[in-house]
Amino acid sequence: VSEFSALIIPWQRRKGRRDLPWQNTRNPYFIWLSEVMLQQTQVATVIPYFLRFVDKFPDIAHLAAADEDSVMASWAGLGYYARARNLHRAARLIVSEHGSRFPQDIDAIASLPGIGRSTAGAIAAFAFGQRHPILDGNVKRVLARAFAVPGYPGNARVASELWQLAESLLPDAAIEPYTQGLMDLGAGICTRLRPLCGACPLAAICRALAAGKVQDYPQPKPRREVPVRQVQMLAVFRGGRLLLEKRPETGVWAGLWSLPEVPPEQSPVETLNSRWGIDARILSRLPEIRHAFTHYRLLIRPVCLEAEREVVPPDTRVVWLDAGEALQAAIPTPVRKLLQSLGQFAMNDANGILGAQGLG
Ligand code: SF4
Repeated sequence: VSEFSALIIPWQRRKGRRDLPWQNTRNPYFIWLSEVMLQQTQVATVIPYFLRFVDKFPDIAHLAAADEDSVMASWAGLGYYARARNLHRAARLIVSEHGSRFPQDIDAIASLPGIGRSTAGAIAAFAFGQRHPILDGNVKRVLARAFAVPGYPGNARVASELWQLAESLLPDAAIEPYTQGLMDLGAGICTRLRPLCGACPLAAICRALAAGKVQDYPQPKPRREVPVRQVQMLAVFRGGRLLLEKRPETGVWAGLWSLPEVPPEQSPVETLNSRWGIDARILSRLPEIRHAFTHYRLLIRPVCLEAEREVVPPDTRVVWLDAGEALQAAIPTPVRKLLQSLGQFAMNDANGILGAQGLG
């Protein structure tokens, strides 16, 4: 742990960024403004905006006194405009609540609009030399790799572990080059893709590098578990004709023709009999078909049955169609694929259930 800052601080002094317009100053307004601008934007883009902004609003009092339109105009092109609105609101709060002096207490800094815990830590370090950790996305990546911290950093437990680690790594002195060094490493060396481990001061102690697993850290956001719905689809034949049922007017495949569906735990034979008075026997069960919807996966278990007679139920939502005609009907894609595979099945079936024409 003590080695960590001892490796970063001299590296930052030799190789890090030291001449940015908001460096070499203790002006909390400049430091605050730069940290906010850098939240979602790269250094090279920020520099001209920063210079124009401080030219127009040289201190907190000028910013607080400005009208919102002129603040927004100076931000135009930088994006994420909530940052500018929060900056303006915070400037007015500093004037009204803190006598126009930027607060030095870390909790007071972090309670200003648009300043999270990490930004507050950076401002406290650069403006006041206080020992507080930072943990933006780049620093999370550096720590997760250097200490092989498992898990997704967006997860509250993993984030809390990283904050504790960041706290424990703070040096007793030289907080400014240490904090800047972490930022420089995250932005230019320990990048998300193709990190420059050969040029990294942490290479000797980096656990991810030692294990040859740099790209395994930090772990990505876990994919949401998609629920699975199972259903039996009944292909009921009689003399080359197939039973189709119209789907409800709302929901999935609304209003399309499809095969009758039965929940997985119910008997297809009993269901056909009780719903439409159709007596049938099971010929075969076919391999499962998977179909992905946005919010769930459908697991279709096709069951082929032969009806004793072509009963015409009074229910107008059910029809018998010639097998070939069924393919021409407005049917959902997975059901069409199923019917086409049934054609293959029919060709191989000694009973010739579908008749000579088959389905596909
Ligand atoms: S050695 Fe590589 S993976 Fe480890 S901290 Fe440095 S750049 Fe990142």
